[in-house]
Amino acid sequence: MLAHFTVAELADKLTKKEVSAREVTLAALERIEALDEKIKAYLTVTADEALAAADAVDARRMKGEQLAPLAGIPMALKDNLCTKGVPTTCASKILENFIPPYDATVVERLQQAGAVMLGKTNLDEFAMGSSTENSAFFTTRNPWDITRVPGGSSGGSAAAVAAGEAYFALGTDTGGSIRQPASFCGVVGMKPTYGRVSRYGAVAFASSLDQIGPLTKDVRDCALVLHAIAGHDWRDSTAADVEVPDYTACLEEGIKGLKLGIPKEYFAVGVDSGVKAAVRKAIDLLVSLGAEAEEMSLPHTEYGIPVYYLIAPAEASSNLARFDGVRYGFRAEAENLLDMYLKTRSRGFGSEVKRRIMLGTYALSSGYYDAYYLKALKVRTLIKEDFDKAFARYDVLVTPTTPAVAFPAGSVSDLLTMYLNDILTIGANLAGLPALSVPCGFAGGLPVGLQLIAKPFAEGTLLRAAYAYEQNSGLKNCKPPIAAGGEQHA
Ligand code: GLN
Repeated sequence: MLAHFTVAELADKLTKKEVSAREVTLAALERIEALDEKIKAYLTVTADEALAAADAVDARRMKGEQLAPLAGIPMALKDNLCTKGVPTTCASKILENFIPPYDATVVERLQQAGAVMLGKTNLDEFAMGSSTENSAFFTTRNPWDITRVPGGSSGGSAAAVAAGEAYFALGTDTGGSIRQPASFCGVVGMKPTYGRVSRYGAVAFASSLDQIGPLTKDVRDCALVLHAIAGHDWRDSTAADVEVPDYTACLEEGIKGLKLGIPKEYFAVGVDSGVKAAVRKAIDLLVSLGAEAEEMSLPHTEYGIPVYYLIAPAEASSNLARFDGVRYGFRAEAENLLDMYLKTRSRGFGSEVKRRIMLGTYALSSGYYDAYYLKALKVRTLIKEDFDKAFARYDVLVTPTTPAVAFPAGSVSDLLTMYLNDILTIGANLAGLPALSVPCGFAGGLPVGLQLIAKPFAEGTLLRAAYAYEQNSGLKNCKPPIAAGGEQHA
């Protein structure tokens, strides 16, 4: 079945002309038609544009042009990435009618590579959340168990890839929003180094933390997609001018002698025993493949959540000030300008977004700035120094991605419990490090993710380690039962 192929496998078939881009795009659209009523991964499906893009790739191939590996591959984009002429809602009422006049740099790069956009995926409103339950439109479901959440905020992208409704997807990760849903849905997800990928055209949440990255069926695909989107961009001053290596070239190098640090704080109370067991088993496998593992400490780990939940809302309160009814999307009818601002923002934003704006505004206000925001910045430095010290000794840190597996939709009502989902992922964002989640087994029948963290711009090392693990784990491209059917195409 076409939907079961990875990007690399499908690229091979396309190159050999065993199948056309139009055929694979049609099959992907049929698949969405068959499954998305249940999964609800997509906010917008752009079928006509997808077929036109596929035809253009086929025409180029017929002419004998050399095409990039992603040419003709159907994919999905999180709906906080600007797409010219296609609604970009951030799953918010305030941007319900917003149609960007330009493409994000990552979108442009994927288009240049010939990838075919199938549509835009659901997320927690403005990427604030861990379950997609904060979407103003609907909650996406986990393909492994549709009573459960897919994680968030890039839950739509992760669910689409897991269900075979897209060959790969892009998400954004501010505190774990690529890795946590990847872990919950049993796919590979990577948050690249801060600065590795341009954020031009990604709707900003917390600018010192946000990164765009791939969600894929396997590690090789992750390398392929990262290669296509990474690199310097004059339109984003934070996009680093660092050469982009050929990430697929080093995959097979193996991990003999690689030094793994196992941070003990990441296995502390609160981490589910089934998750711990799967991760311990994965570490044993890495060691049997020639890596050296040692327990170590990242002593400031416990401050990650409070630091993140001050810095991220503070930056969000500033970034979201632009949505005032004047420039973008929704505008409420009102008597005067102030009234218009107030009504637009109170009706346009959902409750989690409003909560963060209030929290952030408070933390930044004079009188509290030093006590909260500045203090948080100082502790952020301590967290970063923990990692700096660790990488003087270790190549890769190995942890669970999340404390537990996917939870039932509607089951987490208190905020702190929801925020604690991010406890194992936010360190990498606070320190600007690349981190990847790769499936490492199951607990209670639901996927568990193994998180690998490396020093800045060492994505190649992460991919190499994850690839070695994946090749030997027997868990490559595992599919949920729902994804086994649902397609008529051969
Ligand atoms: N769950 C975290 C939050 O709610 C992280 C979100 C993200 O990475 N975008 O902020």
